[in-house]
Amino acid sequence: MKKTGLVFFPAFDWAISPTHPEREERLLYTRDQIFEEGLMDLPQITEYKPRLATKKDVARTHFCVPNVAGQTTEAHLIAAGGALVIADALMKGEIHNGFAMVRPPGHHAMRVVHGNRGFCNINNEAIMVDYLRHKYGIKKVAIIDTDVHHGDGTQDIFYHDPDVLFISFHQDGRTLYPGSGFTNEAGGPAAYGTTLNVPLPPGTTDEGIHYVLDNLILPVLNEFQPEIIINSAGQDNHYTDPLANMKVSAQGYAQLNQKLAPDIAVLEGGYAIETALPYVNTGIILAMAGLDYSHVIEPDYNKNQLVQSPEKTERIKETVEELLAVWKQRNKIELGVLAHKSDFYQRQKTIFYDTDYIHENQVEKVRLCYDCAGYITIMSQAFHHNDRRSKVFCVAIPFNACQRCYNDAHNDYMNAVRSEAYDYVYLQNKAEDVYRIFTNVGTKKLEEF
Ligand SMILES: [Zn+2]
Ligand SMILES: [Zn+2]
Ligand SMILES: [Zn+2]
Repeated sequence: MKKTGLVFFPAFDWAISPTHPEREERLLYTRDQIFEEGLMDLPQITEYKPRLATKKDVARTHFCVPNVAGQTTEAHLIAAGGALVIADALMKGEIHNGFAMVRPPGHHAMRVVHGNRGFCNINNEAIMVDYLRHKYGIKKVAIIDTDVHHGDGTQDIFYHDPDVLFISFHQDGRTLYPGSGFTNEAGGPAAYGTTLNVPLPPGTTDEGIHYVLDNLILPVLNEFQPEIIINSAGQDNHYTDPLANMKVSAQGYAQLNQKLAPDIAVLEGGYAIETALPYVNTGIILAMAGLDYSHVIEPDYNKNQLVQSPEKTERIKETVEELLAVWKQRNKIELGVLAHKSDFYQRQKTIFYDTDYIHENQVEKVRLCYDCAGYITIMSQAFHHNDRRSKVFCVAIPFNACQRCYNDAHNDYMNAVRSEAYDYVYLQNKAEDVYRIFTNVGTKKLEEF
């Protein structure tokens, strides 16, 4: 019997503030419930201890300003490391699937990190995906984000990568943080259609999310044929969640998990710490372990109160139709057509860090390459609330880089170092797993690892 692996890390010493919803009690109630139900004693379940992710694990995915230590505490490294432990156990064949119940969460952390956004500093799933690709040579990955908030960080990290399918459903960004995740955000020109966003109306129920699952997510997964399926398992679509307005139940989540059958689930949000998380997480663990979860019902559960209006059902169907059309057209969108036939695709982004009050401007450029995913440069300037500013230049070389992209990326990196126009210049060389930080403030130094 192959087991379900669990990692449990409540991060006792990390909270945004003592009364903030993102605090350690989030997982303590779950832990109580899991013990009460005797889940840890089941032969189907194995508990693993988390470990620390290394700074190299983080630098493979993120450009942390000024460096990894500046954006992470031990708790962040253990949360990311908890996901890596599950990844290793899966790849070694010790487990059939696994759930990293860790915090702080990660899916709002983007490729460049100047601070905390939406309770996230580093992106646990994305770090795990890059680790799986580097260490085990996994090529095609699907990440399904079932948190009520748009997984904008994960989207940002894999937006130009045709080998990573990212699908997020979430409460419509016009009504909820972070305000993004619309159907037109469908991936860069070299990866068009491998990002799919499903904005859902407030008040969407189990019926609505299962419609999306059955009619969009499962058929797309079946066509994409990923080697591994990751679930960004946010539990804040629950009808009692204080941060959002959805009507999903623990049964709805457990059934979703059963149908999706992810290889690895990583916990994201969920802020109804007593009324939702213990039930939803228990339901998901039982579903992953192939056990009966039909008895996992919230004490106040009332099916009659969780009804979705016909108008909402109609809107969800239209959104799914629109996204299926994007998916079907994806191969017809030629490289360069979207970018007006130039060598680089460029986009400008402004990013707000709601937790740390940082405003960031970015110019992101992607080489449109027929031989690899294309290298990426990012010029990023951050304005902190205390008037501190930092200007950085980042160069990312993809895993499968061709020689031309590799050479040009190195040139761009060296030119940025020589220009002295930036406080920090980064080189993220995934092809050789080498990462560099050139520091241009105070004593100039170069760190490589
Ligand atoms: Zn989502
Ligand atoms: Zn969330
Ligand atoms: Zn190339």
